[in-house]
Amino acid sequence: MDLIAIAIPFFLLALLVEIAVDRKQGTGFYRANDSVNSLSVGTLSTTFGYFTNLIPAVILAYALQNLALFNIDLAWFDFSPSGILLWLLALIAFDFCYYWAHRCGHEISVLWAAHAIHHQSEDYNLSTALRQTSSGFLFSWIFYLPLFLLGMPFEVFVTVNALDLIYQFWVHTQLVGKLGWLDRILVTPSNHRVHHAQNKIYIDKNYGGILVLWDRMFGTFQEELDDEPVIFGVRKPLASWNPIWANLQVYHYLLFDAVHTQNWKDKIGVWFRRTGWRPSDVEERYPKNPVILSAFEKYDPPLHPSLRRYVVINLVLGAIAVLGIGFLFASHGALASLIPCVALWTTLLSLGFLSDLKHYAIRFELARILLVVPLSVLAMLYFKVLPENQAGMAALGTMLFVLVCVILLVPAARSVKSES
Ligand SMILES: [Zn+2]
Ligand SMILES: [Zn+2]
Repeated sequence: MDLIAIAIPFFLLALLVEIAVDRKQGTGFYRANDSVNSLSVGTLSTTFGYFTNLIPAVILAYALQNLALFNIDLAWFDFSPSGILLWLLALIAFDFCYYWAHRCGHEISVLWAAHAIHHQSEDYNLSTALRQTSSGFLFSWIFYLPLFLLGMPFEVFVTVNALDLIYQFWVHTQLVGKLGWLDRILVTPSNHRVHHAQNKIYIDKNYGGILVLWDRMFGTFQEELDDEPVIFGVRKPLASWNPIWANLQVYHYLLFDAVHTQNWKDKIGVWFRRTGWRPSDVEERYPKNPVILSAFEKYDPPLHPSLRRYVVINLVLGAIAVLGIGFLFASHGALASLIPCVALWTTLLSLGFLSDLKHYAIRFELARILLVVPLSVLAMLYFKVLPENQAGMAALGTMLFVLVCVILLVPAARSVKSES
């Protein structure tokens, strides 16, 4: 049972409710461009995962089969009192590993390169929760290896992993204030807001997934302070709505430093030392601007309403496509999902270019709607990913899509020209 797939409709419903409350109360917690970017990043992570999640799964399954110290039977995890206790223990053990994975994800450069994307939003709302990395498959499995060495059944791991992730959704909100003693036991909106802050006092604090007790045990707990309002985001701002660049930005910084330092030891050190550390020769030649939080301004290129509408409509269409791709992946596997995934990733990239008001954005978008989407549909028919008897429907749908997009793109294109 895929718990995350079951939770997604509830996530979207909660998101819509929060947007409605935000509009009604005029709190300004949502900006369309930021939310579109967070949803694009989440969509990219989910679909990219179809092709990468197998790597850690194979490694962890191998560890379980060949290196496990204990033989823990899946049948023990039933609904008897001892079974429920085992589930609880498994969840706590997972949450402990999550704390260390998350902590190292902040404190070691190459791991931060993967995790930073979750923190790049300068707003904080339920859409922020969906900003997940596409490169977590590289290293994060290492932190869960002990669970498999102890013999945790794979199905139990998948379930407690999903529960931990689902729990963390609701804490990404500014609509819930402090919750008293709960803030000191569980991860809550208040203490997770601290985690997403770039204020000096809040940095590298509150790494917990479900239990914030781990932070209190290991000295990384920080309460949200009334006289220190949280400024959300990262200290080296992304300043872009491109979801692919969002995944690569910190890797790029690290690569730059590794290439430019003269010291061979530092070429390795750049990746594995404490986040923020730079080789002294690179620091001297390419100094970074100091962070002045009092002058902080959110990245916010002004989008004409017609362009904003165009981007939001296409994101909604992209979200519907994700559902279809999800079914395709479940029934036909990753290879069959590749063509629609590439079309989807091109869409997300194009929406990023439009939101960034890039001078080539309209040309790129025209290429997407006139070439990429029709060619993808043709390729899916050719490779029989779409059955032949649906060719007529697919052609009609594609023509309708292109027509509507072109009609909507004309006023949006004028607004880009007048901005640039
Ligand atoms: Zn984090
Ligand atoms: Zn978060």
